[in-house]
Amino acid sequence: MTQLVWLRNDLRVLDNPALFYACQTQQPVRVIYSETVKQRQQHNESPAQQSLRQQLLISLSEALAALDISLEILTADYFTDLPALIKQYCQIHAIEGLWFNEQSWLNESIRDSQVTSLLKACHIDVHRFQDECLINSAIVTKDQTPYRVFTPWYRQWLIKLQGINLELLPAPKLHSTANAPRSFTNAIKTEINSQVNYRDDLWPASQEHALAQLISFCENSASDYDHARDYPAINGTSLLSPYIAVGALSVRQCVVYLQQACLKNQSSWLEHTWLKELAWREFYRYLMRNKPELAKGAAFNPQKESKWLDNAEHFKAWQQGCTGFPIIDAAMIQLKQTGWMHNRLRMLTASFLCKLLLIDWRKGEAHFLQHLIDGDFSSNNGGWQWSSSTGCDASPWFRIFNPTLQSRKFDCDGHFIRKMLPQLSALSDKDIHWPSELQRKTLNYHQPIIDYSASRERALLWRKVKEPN
Ligand code: FAD
Repeated sequence: MTQLVWLRNDLRVLDNPALFYACQTQQPVRVIYSETVKQRQQHNESPAQQSLRQQLLISLSEALAALDISLEILTADYFTDLPALIKQYCQIHAIEGLWFNEQSWLNESIRDSQVTSLLKACHIDVHRFQDECLINSAIVTKDQTPYRVFTPWYRQWLIKLQGINLELLPAPKLHSTANAPRSFTNAIKTEINSQVNYRDDLWPASQEHALAQLISFCENSASDYDHARDYPAINGTSLLSPYIAVGALSVRQCVVYLQQACLKNQSSWLEHTWLKELAWREFYRYLMRNKPELAKGAAFNPQKESKWLDNAEHFKAWQQGCTGFPIIDAAMIQLKQTGWMHNRLRMLTASFLCKLLLIDWRKGEAHFLQHLIDGDFSSNNGGWQWSSSTGCDASPWFRIFNPTLQSRKFDCDGHFIRKMLPQLSALSDKDIHWPSELQRKTLNYHQPIIDYSASRERALLWRKVKEPN
């Protein structure tokens, strides 16, 4: 009998519970990956993320072939096509058990339940692992209700974290009983689009590289993270989000290497700001699990929605980095050119769109997913709802970032702006944040599409009208 591992958002050999425990059975193991083309389009997955996944699959097929395990791609349109397809595969290959790591998002968890029910009805065992988050068990308030605010939830999360086993699972061993075909790599290359369509100079597609980057960050940069993470011109953050988003790294790996680095320099890993950022990722998943309507475009606090304007020209200028606000334009160009954007800039560009342009946050949310290489449905939704003040624990509605002041503070010598907008590079450190009308004309740079102060007043007034108290 053969065991079947179904990979989805866990594109790694190391620390992969489903793969590890399937191989522990000592029976032959096959691995499949399901490519649901139309579903991905519906989920707004970016070409950059798709390309990263495809390149990682090629590298994964090589790693698995070395273990005498085949990796095959099952192609379908939608998740709903998968139960029948997987059942058919199981019957053809005499599969005894299916193994996978769960995904908690709405469509994904419905898909998993449907596959589980169908296979169980055919007497095929299904082994499911909860491995998407570090803490997958319920975290509830004293009243047994879900938390609505991050900080008290985080306290409980930290307590639970200290009680779990953080040991990493090794790669499975090559097993002699295997009869699965070797080296499917060439077949994979013909089945998927192996053309590289993303910045592979920034994120090479291999688990080894992802791990090396994690270790290097933890050993060399994590101690300065608290300060450096706010400055887009420097690599002060880990830049690991593309790998975490597709599961080329597990969050457990992130925490274990952080723990080891903190042990070496005798600092507390539990108080490390980077751990808190990893916890935000889990918090946004927690919110979606407890409030599934968030996955369907609902605001966490619908009463805090603004009335939105539908100015197509403003939206286009924002998307293309032509607003005339240098820091906003530089950020949107970073997104366009690399598929990634620094966290501070995500907050600034999101605030600009939904507060100063008064454009619905859902449009920004979709645009980000369509371009981000690290697109993560719940983190992106959480970030947008935080920025538009509709979310759980959101920034207050009257907090409206001033792009020029933020630019002066976090890119004081204009280094980041110069890199992304070379046409402004000759301007002084002072002028680069807000060029004069003449400088804009001379340098062929956009005039501002809005007046900041008037737009800020409008945003405040609209809220006051809606919320007189
Ligand atoms: P680091 O600072 O090194 O953090 C390490 C990891 O922690 C990240 O890789 C990520 O997995 C997690 N993380 C860090 N900050 C956050 C946060 N605020 N919320 C949730 N997780 C976090 N992150 C995504 O991974 N995918 C998204 O689609 C996404 N969309 C966002 C949209 C908006 C409007 C905002 C404000 C934030 C968004 N974030 C998103 C969060 C954050 O900007 C990125 O995780 C971070 O910039 C990734 O860079 P890094 O890996 O260097 O992060």
